Amino acid sequence: MDNHQKFLPYGRQSIDEADLASVTAALQADYLTTGPTVGRFEAAFAAAVGARYAVASNSGTAALHLACLALGLAPGDTVIVPSVTFLATANAARFCGAEVVFADVDPDSGRLTAEHFAAALTRAGDRKVKAVLPVHLNGHCADMLAIASLAERHGIRVVEDACHALGGAQRAGNDSAAPVGACAHSDLACFSLHPVKTMTTGEGGVTTTNDERQYQAMQMFRSHGMTRDPATFRHRELAFAPDGQANPWYYEMHALGWNYRITDFACALGESQLKKLPGFVARRRELAALYDRLLAPLAPRLKTVPAQSGDDPTLHLYAVLIDFPAIGKSRAQFMAELRGLGIGTMVHYLPVHQQPYYRDRYGRVDLPGADSYYARQLSIPLYPDMTQDDVARVVEALRRCLG
Ligand SMILES: *Cc1c(COP(=O)(O)O)cnc(C)c1O
Repeated sequence: MDNHQKFLPYGRQSIDEADLASVTAALQADYLTTGPTVGRFEAAFAAAVGARYAVASNSGTAALHLACLALGLAPGDTVIVPSVTFLATANAARFCGAEVVFADVDPDSGRLTAEHFAAALTRAGDRKVKAVLPVHLNGHCADMLAIASLAERHGIRVVEDACHALGGAQRAGNDSAAPVGACAHSDLACFSLHPVKTMTTGEGGVTTTNDERQYQAMQMFRSHGMTRDPATFRHRELAFAPDGQANPWYYEMHALGWNYRITDFACALGESQLKKLPGFVARRRELAALYDRLLAPLAPRLKTVPAQSGDDPTLHLYAVLIDFPAIGKSRAQFMAELRGLGIGTMVHYLPVHQQPYYRDRYGRVDLPGADSYYARQLSIPLYPDMTQDDVARVVEALRRCLG
């Protein structure tokens, strides 16, 4: 076995026999699209993160869009989104016709802080800011207590982009922590079940909430804005037979919705993955702690991102920060050298305010924290099937490439 030839990607799924058996059974059952597994998976997911309700959809992007729809975001509304995130956080608001004000972030963690949120509010001026979407970048939680209290003072709703943070816990009070997804300090929380995330359904997403009306709205928006619930029918003469029975073919469309449904066999994968979530979490924490220890001697040329006090995160990405000009190498060159040693890396993310679409729409915005984080960031391999030797190998390769 030549361990040194094995390529380590920055992230990947972990699939075992139990997953194969679960999906196979679902494929042999009666429903491939929405069947009994979807509701079972949603209930199990809600229980796992301590939320009252969970709505599964076919991507994390759909999960974010459903959250924005549940809040009634519409043209004329403004939302605040930290600039260091995946495109979908901002796009979800745009799908509703809302406009985005990008917030700057802490340059050393990439996270939205209450101070940056307040600065973005000031920049928004007298526009109607309806929601803020803090991102738990890498799995480290944004400062939800401070952000939520500022949001509350301004009547702003809070949607957590928790796509990186499944399985983590966040500070919820002076001495307490709550699972990410419990919505302890938010209206809704959104997860992605893409293969590089902490657990997967292939493509998939989940939105959690404790609000029954939002839950019902998201179910409706997920499937064309349709309802089959006789209690909600408006065309009574079309909906009901003279004997008062609802007509069996009948449904109504009450709003413009989408097809964001997830398949039953994807949820079967979700069910078996969810059973392994505690193991994935434990493994990611172990590997991250090992990185923390082994990378410490590489400071100050290479820095890591510490967790916020009171949080117990589960990292999706392990980010390191390197001052590339100071080591005399471009990031592209550094990544190529690592690739030559069998180590995959990735950059997360070009700040969204720099994307041509948003620049065309909003003009140039000066967000030095986001730009500084971006200039130094590199995601190194982190996934449950890595071994401790793999971690040591990544650290050794980093040491060599730092020169
Ligand atoms: C992955 C991700 C999304 C989108 O999830 P998809 O499942 O790929 O649609 C949104 N926000 C963040 C921060 C993500 O990492």
